[in-house]
Amino acid sequence: MLDARYRITNPESRIFVSPMKSFDVPIIYRSPLIAAIKKKRKELDKMKKPASPSGRDFTPTLLDFGPLQIYLARHFGFCYGVENAIEIAFRTVEENPGRRIFLLSEMIHNPHVNNDLQSHGIKFLQDTYGKQLIPFDSLSQDDIVLIPAFGTTPGIEEKLKTRGIPIEKYDTTCPFVEKVWNRSEVIAKRNYTIIIHGKPGHEETRATFSRAAAKGPAVVVRDMKEAIELSKYISGEKPESTFYTEFNDQYSPGFNVKNDLKRIGVVNQTTMLASDTQAIADHLKQTMINTYKLSPDTTEARFADTRDTLCYATNDNQTAVSGMLEINADLAIVAGGYNSSNTSHLVELCEEKLPTYFINDEEKILSDREILHYDLHTRQEKLSTGYLARKNPIKLLLTSGASCPDAIVEGIISKLVAFYPGALPLTKLLQQFQ
Ligand code: SF4
Repeated sequence: MLDARYRITNPESRIFVSPMKSFDVPIIYRSPLIAAIKKKRKELDKMKKPASPSGRDFTPTLLDFGPLQIYLARHFGFCYGVENAIEIAFRTVEENPGRRIFLLSEMIHNPHVNNDLQSHGIKFLQDTYGKQLIPFDSLSQDDIVLIPAFGTTPGIEEKLKTRGIPIEKYDTTCPFVEKVWNRSEVIAKRNYTIIIHGKPGHEETRATFSRAAAKGPAVVVRDMKEAIELSKYISGEKPESTFYTEFNDQYSPGFNVKNDLKRIGVVNQTTMLASDTQAIADHLKQTMINTYKLSPDTTEARFADTRDTLCYATNDNQTAVSGMLEINADLAIVAGGYNSSNTSHLVELCEEKLPTYFINDEEKILSDREILHYDLHTRQEKLSTGYLARKNPIKLLLTSGASCPDAIVEGIISKLVAFYPGALPLTKLLQQFQ
């Protein structure tokens, strides 16, 4: 549970959530330029006719520096859950001098924010994959343990409670993650098995899975490939016996393939790719229809009719990337932590259309010729040369993930502009948005 002051509600989860709430986030993460641009776009939105069928404008903002034209996504950067978590973490440090403060694992998937927290004396109990770095046994009731925005498992909460550690006050679990837990509970109560589309090792999916498993049978599917294999157990195409090795560590204790795949419902990690979750849900639904010869009237008896559980930030950021990709650009740069799920999906969307460079800060832009960037496929950084085509103007798309500070995006803009001697100075561009 979140601190009462930060607890807000979503109609579905009985908590009211306002993504418009403003948080006290350290100034080092802010950017005057990006703040001015976002403010201006919000004002324009109120005056403009809707630019999309949804009634919202997802066109990018053109930052015209002359020889360099940067198209900035309409939505990017810190989301509600991240700002909430950062505010609570830094306030906890400020209010508790001399006390030992721990984080269960990474606060959010951004190396800069995690390093800053560590430099303020916060220590991590586990790494991002759940490996124990500091034993729970070494904790005492005088210690503070912050639960990250991804949430945690009931088992870990119990371990903390038995050591007398108050968890409610320092729980930064995002309400949009809690919404997935609530949705899982609703599905489980109606006797559907919960299928979670998520990355099995991701903190959020581990938390969602363990909470779902406490309510009923649950399975995690990573992607469409795994969903297709799961559907073969539903249809009987594959023998039950191979399920347990194929989905090792991805099914709830006592899972019975024969009985537990007769009624299913799908939820997802809040940061997955919307189109992937939709395709997976559609595939599993169709498998149920074919296997049980269902009609539109009887489908719900086997397949819980739910919408995806992506959060507003994931939806907005992905839609804004689609809007940005309408521009016929030369390249895209996506900023964010390399282990950030939501950021990696923005990269995937861009990669489908044009050369894309995934970097975690401006330092990776080594020169106007060389860039060090993360390759999602090899999971390694690699050096590319000639990423900025010699043309005038060059058109570049820019966005960042929900855990990336705006100051990094400004740093990237500033670094790129410096490569073009005749470019409009940043200060002059800022005036256009004030
Ligand atoms: S990405 Fe969504 S679910 Fe995750 S912390 Fe941000 S708002 Fe919450």
